[in-house]
Amino acid sequence: MAPPIAFAGSPIDRADQIRVDPEALAARMDWRAKVLKLDGLLPEIDDMGGLVWGTLADVSQEAELVFLGLLDDKACFAAVPEEGAGGPAYAMPRAWQVMQLLGPEDLAIYGGARSLVDWHARHKYCAKCGSVTKIAKGGWQRTCPNCGADHFPRTDPVTIMLVEHEDRLLLGRQPRFPPRMYSALAGFVEPGETIEEAVAREIWEEAGLRVRDVEYLSSQPWPFPSQLMIGCTSVTDDPELTIDTTELDDARWFSRAELEAARAAGTEGTEDLIFPQKFAIAHQLMAWWLDK
Ligand SMILES: [Zn+2]
Repeated sequence: MAPPIAFAGSPIDRADQIRVDPEALAARMDWRAKVLKLDGLLPEIDDMGGLVWGTLADVSQEAELVFLGLLDDKACFAAVPEEGAGGPAYAMPRAWQVMQLLGPEDLAIYGGARSLVDWHARHKYCAKCGSVTKIAKGGWQRTCPNCGADHFPRTDPVTIMLVEHEDRLLLGRQPRFPPRMYSALAGFVEPGETIEEAVAREIWEEAGLRVRDVEYLSSQPWPFPSQLMIGCTSVTDDPELTIDTTELDDARWFSRAELEAARAAGTEGTEDLIFPQKFAIAHQLMAWWLDK
């Protein structure tokens, strides 16, 4: 069975009615409020492998606070760090450690909080006029006191897709992947296209294949920094590959038997293939295909 989708399933009630009501929000900012302990953008983790929460007394008066929502009727906040993320997840070994340590619910709480505070740290200035913006709506908005523009935390849609041909799957590897690791192809959805069109375009650009029957399967919030991974399946009738070597190191077809063996081999993989890690939605997509 496939593991749960990492970073999904947060137990926090986002409590939108409190975000938009400054009085209700202020009333929640008392000694009962919980503040997620972060070291930069990484979470503090206790001996039991759980997130650590402090109180409002632990944060400096100047810090911007985002309201994450309610957990057991307690308001949960996170403070915006001085600096946002400096690079992608694969460049941060501690981020990978965190994924292995935290339970599913804590990982989801952390992921949402991380995306949000990182966005604030990197979006202090108005994109329209360059003035310093102010946090608003409990951190789910920034507004510009100079020109009045509103700015909202972003989520960037990325399609990630299986391509099937005669009981085989197409997988590719990016140059930064460890040796033998292959995964589902992926790419950002561009302005002016549907999810299905983005899947077809990416597969055409990266592998030179025409696909049909694109179907949505499941999605995953990915907080490095704020992607929404949209997992899809597709089928091709012509398996002849033309690989875009500026994007991919390699791409090839894997048989069901090869994929089964790699999954069974765990993190070590087989001679030819390391199955994607369980935190990645590619793992769930491939497991779904093997088990269907
Ligand atoms: Zn402005």
